[in-house]
Amino acid sequence: MTTQNVSCLTTTAFNDHPLHCPCCGARVLDVTAPGQPQLTPCPHTLYIASDEGFEYIGPQARPVIEALGIAVDGDMAPMLSCARDNEAFDEGFNALTDRVTASIDDAFKLELGGPAPAGLAVYVGFAPAR
Ligand SMILES: [Zn+2]
Repeated sequence: MTTQNVSCLTTTAFNDHPLHCPCCGARVLDVTAPGQPQLTPCPHTLYIASDEGFEYIGPQARPVIEALGIAVDGDMAPMLSCARDNEAFDEGFNALTDRVTASIDDAFKLELGGPAPAGLAVYVGFAPAR
């Protein structure tokens, strides 16, 4: 597995706005929707994760995550159950998503911090379509 520096934008400024894909403009995450956040990943979305786990794993990220020894459920259901005893989880999802992002060509990551004190960070990875 090759690694490279991770291009990451970290912000807390846009927590109350929908997140659109920088590649195609599709709305991929809407935290302003009533109830649960709405996830509508586009073909450029690698993953959507929080500090609690992956919410979405796309086809480009899946083999990278599996190569780390993390089992991914077959059906892409929300809140994928992963093998929590894997050492990759010890680093936390910020570091884990860094690893995934660094392993995919031209990938970049947005880290959206939740409002203090209890907000969770959300990590969304993108890569241009091949
Ligand atoms: Zn897109």
